[in-house]
Amino acid sequence: MKIAKSVLLSLFLIIYLNAQSNNNKYVIVIHGGAGYTSPDISDSLKSIYFNSLKAVLQLGKDILENGGSSLDAVEQVVRLMEDDTVFNAGKGAVFTEAGTHELDASIMSGKDLSCGAVAGVTKIKNPVSLARLVMEKTPHVLFAGTGADILGEKFNVDLVDNTYFRTEFRYQQWLKSKQKETEPKGTVGCVAMDIYGNISAATSTGGRGDKWIGRVGDTPIIGAGNYANNNTCGISATGWGELFIRHNVAFNISALMEYKGLSLQEACDEMLFKRLEEGTGGVIAVDKDGNFYMPFNTASMFRGVATSEGLFETAIWK
Ligand code: ASP
Repeated sequence: MKIAKSVLLSLFLIIYLNAQSNNNKYVIVIHGGAGYTSPDISDSLKSIYFNSLKAVLQLGKDILENGGSSLDAVEQVVRLMEDDTVFNAGKGAVFTEAGTHELDASIMSGKDLSCGAVAGVTKIKNPVSLARLVMEKTPHVLFAGTGADILGEKFNVDLVDNTYFRTEFRYQQWLKSKQKETEPKGTVGCVAMDIYGNISAATSTGGRGDKWIGRVGDTPIIGAGNYANNNTCGISATGWGELFIRHNVAFNISALMEYKGLSLQEACDEMLFKRLEEGTGGVIAVDKDGNFYMPFNTASMFRGVATSEGLFETAIWK
């Protein structure tokens, strides 16, 4: 009995000290895609967008405030965004040129650089959760296409028919894009640092509207659209995936901090405003000291931030 008591006491002490090690400080940032959303959209549409952003941000904040891990926070937040038809991820994903849906997602833990990703899945309701299973339950990092769908069956994740992802809005958008290229937007992402000082990042997307069958963007490519390292920062990107892959944007931000001693802002600015051209996208970022930054070189980026200091903000335009 005495032993059990002292074991319990030391357990509490460890948890307490752990929590104290970061002064209960947490920060979470979210994005719902970068693009050219007009500021003249109707008030009702604005409130739909802001309500969605606030609801997902609140979920992430609650998880972190209650001592949850950043990994749980980013997965749950991205899941909720996948379920929300407002965003181009999960239900509400854009169409491929063939009128189908192929989804990409990834997740990474900055604690030990473990990561998982899926590309081109067609029947996984929440691709981000399958990405986490890849990370935690397989010896691999990235599963693609049929193999990834089969893995989902094996892990018993929620499966849906491909038409589940279809929404009338995306269908109309796709019809228009058949005549003229339109700007796809609405990829989702989340980066968080929890009270234990661990940084995680997750990103999920339907990809570029009217993309070729089999095309994979930056979202499931670790280091391009998603990255986390407790020694530097966590990044989730949105934008023109091919360019984010070419420039290895997420990893390079981390590398500029680690190898060149740049601050989070300097590193992001280097990639977003010097290496990439205007109109190509944005990132959300949190560094190891809990600083956050959400730059974009487009006209708009759906985004939000919440911190343990009480900051709770959402925005779309500059
Ligand atoms: N980066 C995504 C892709 O290229 C799309 C986006 O963020 O809008 O698949």
